[in-house]
Amino acid sequence: MKQIETEVVIIGGGATGAGVLRDCALRGMRAILVEKDDIANGTTGRNHGLMHSGARYAVTDQHSAVECIKENRILRKIAGHCIEETDGLFITLPEDELSFQDKFISACHSAGISAEPLTPAEALRIEPNVNPQLLGAVRVPDGTIDPFRLTASSILDAEEYGGRLMNYIRVTGLIIDNGRVCGVHCINVKTGEAVDIRALQVVNAAGIWGQQIAEYADLSIRMFPAKGSLLIVDYRINSMVINRCRKPADADILVPGDTISLIGTTSEKVPYQDIENIRVNPDEVETLLTEGTKLCPIMAQTRVLRAYCGVRPLVSLGNDSSGRNISRGIVLVDHGEADALPGLITITGGKLMTSRLMAEMATDAVAKNLGNSSRCETAEKPLPGARGQQAEIHAPKVSIPVSGSAKYRHGERAASFLSDDQKQNAIICECEMVTRGEIEYAVNNLNAKNLVDLRRRTRIGMGPCQGEMCSCRAAGIVSEMTHSDNSENALDSIGEFLQERWKGVRPVLWGDAMCEADFSYWLYDNLLGYNQLQSIPAPVSEQLCTEQLSTEQKSIAAVESV
Ligand SMILES: Cc1cc2nc3c(=O)[nH]c(=O)nc-3n(C[C@H](O)[C@H](O)[C@H](O)COP(=O)(O)OP(=O)(O)OC[C@H]3O[C@@H](n4cnc5c(N)ncnc54)[C@H](O)[C@@H]3O)c2cc1C
Repeated sequence: MKQIETEVVIIGGGATGAGVLRDCALRGMRAILVEKDDIANGTTGRNHGLMHSGARYAVTDQHSAVECIKENRILRKIAGHCIEETDGLFITLPEDELSFQDKFISACHSAGISAEPLTPAEALRIEPNVNPQLLGAVRVPDGTIDPFRLTASSILDAEEYGGRLMNYIRVTGLIIDNGRVCGVHCINVKTGEAVDIRALQVVNAAGIWGQQIAEYADLSIRMFPAKGSLLIVDYRINSMVINRCRKPADADILVPGDTISLIGTTSEKVPYQDIENIRVNPDEVETLLTEGTKLCPIMAQTRVLRAYCGVRPLVSLGNDSSGRNISRGIVLVDHGEADALPGLITITGGKLMTSRLMAEMATDAVAKNLGNSSRCETAEKPLPGARGQQAEIHAPKVSIPVSGSAKYRHGERAASFLSDDQKQNAIICECEMVTRGEIEYAVNNLNAKNLVDLRRRTRIGMGPCQGEMCSCRAAGIVSEMTHSDNSENALDSIGEFLQERWKGVRPVLWGDAMCEADFSYWLYDNLLGYNQLQSIPAPVSEQLCTEQLSTEQKSIAAVESV
């Protein structure tokens, strides 16, 4: 068995765990982050990507609203390449109460959030696809945030300060000696090798899985998992975030994200034992489409690319088994103080938006226990990629769309792979303008080990063609670079990538999405000859899961698939 020693071990490579690793490294602590899969594979990679201004919570939860606007201002300063300052519109539709708008504006102002009322004509001028029947609109400083880039940049910064990421390492137990947590038992999920990491402090940043980690020490952190589903449409139909101006409800936010738009989200409590097996159901798809079309009627004629869902890490504290005491805010527990079990700290709840603050709170607790008096710098120090985005990158032979996309995703770090080398500049993903150089950078610097990881670092395969044209080329490069590292070979990598895609396409398998799925099956099976590969599913037309289609969708599918 492999044995490693460090000062702090962090469980969970979502935005929160990555933030804790960064904060510990910046304060000079030796820290290791263990993640059972790839980074941002949990809830961090399955959300809406809304950089809240706090306006959504202003009427119902002032504390969260204030927390959001503070972090919103910080993210603009430190994470420029991960965010888009789109602003947001809260629109009132004929079925909503226009009187809510005044209450909303005054609640925003008391939380310190700017909220400017617009006439319907003004709103339509700045956002032409918004429902023309709107009665009023309010402009707020919402934006969008790329959770993959945020997490990868935090890890990159942490590594540059001595922190270490160990992905594909699952925690299987806590090491407890003399009434104190002293580390974690782990297993390498790729090789099966057992690894023990001994540490002075263990941080449980496993989000919704935090309950399981606490149970390894017979502690009770009761999570109330709330599933949320979203749909991605195949181009950017709105340039600002569009919300309904009413109390938060299902499918009332449309977020633009890079080249697409996302409508979400639903909210449904699911049993804890089901959190690994959640999927989007047809009723949710219908709700999302119906409500989304109310925000932007053009959605009714827009191709849906895929659906996905995540589980919000909500927490109930104490012995409340009824769930009445559920916290939607940040939950920090030092188990030394709360349960007389020193060495373990749990940080959970919160939002992507508040992940930096959550990391600061957890790291403050770690630092206190270790007698480290260094102060937190994460609110002022820009992340790698956000330090001079406008920096001149000398690569005159690179076309502007290619260099622009690279700088957009990696800020000044794009200089390390954009050059005049023709091989490096070969475009591998045409939808997202990803070059060979960017792929090599992601494998060498951002811990991407296979095609699915690469998608999270570069957006390869996330554009309108969904990887149809680029996955083979990219898999070849990744395999060539990582084969000696026990990574999957190219065929396995493509199989895994396609399986991920099918999962997202399945709930929306009618009309254009079905034609596209059938086309890609025949492309891979017949043209590219991947029919030998077991992980490629049977032809879509044969395995159409009709039980998933509602009557209306079935009739659309029948008409459109002819
Ligand atoms: C549908 C939906 C929409 C949302 N939209 C937004 C939004 O627009 N804006 C916003 O601010 N917030 C949003 N949120 C909330 C936000 O996504 C989460 O609060 C946040 O991502 C949680 O991050 P985390 O790092 O705490 O947890 P996670 O991202 O879940 O990270 C936990 C990690 O722990 C790892 N792990 C678990 N068990 C183990 C183990 N045994 N060993 C090793 N690793 C382990 C998991 O693999 C996972 O990667 C949304 C949530 C949902 C569900």
